[in-house]
Amino acid sequence: MVADLRVRCPDCKRQFRPRKGTRRRYCEDCRPPRLRPDDEPAPVPDQGPGPIEDACRAELERVDRLTTLEGAALLALARDADRLQGSARASAIRELVKLKPVAFEGTAAPQRDRLDDLAQRRRERRASA
Ligand SMILES: [Zn+2]
Repeated sequence: MVADLRVRCPDCKRQFRPRKGTRRRYCEDCRPPRLRPDDEPAPVPDQGPGPIEDACRAELERVDRLTTLEGAALLALARDADRLQGSARASAIRELVKLKPVAFEGTAAPQRDRLDDLAQRRRERRASA
């Protein structure tokens, strides 16, 4: 009888044959080979502001909201959105989008008439209905 080289994946309970020389415990469906098994994606090391933080800071500066509580909170979320990965990043972006109208409340949209903006949004709503 041939030695059984199969391993049962703890996630999906399927048996699979690990490649020679690897000590893979999870199948490649559950843990793609690029990630080391049992490793969660690590935050990107701090390399200064990323694109989302830069854009957020520029917009806040334009409307002079950088030093408000909401502006500072928005910037912190933007930093997270740049640095984190996976579901943490997705949730930072979700919060960012939610908080943005609060941080910018009462300020004008850039280079755009507010009424035009509303009319545009109405048109888009009608188009997608
Ligand atoms: Zn699996």
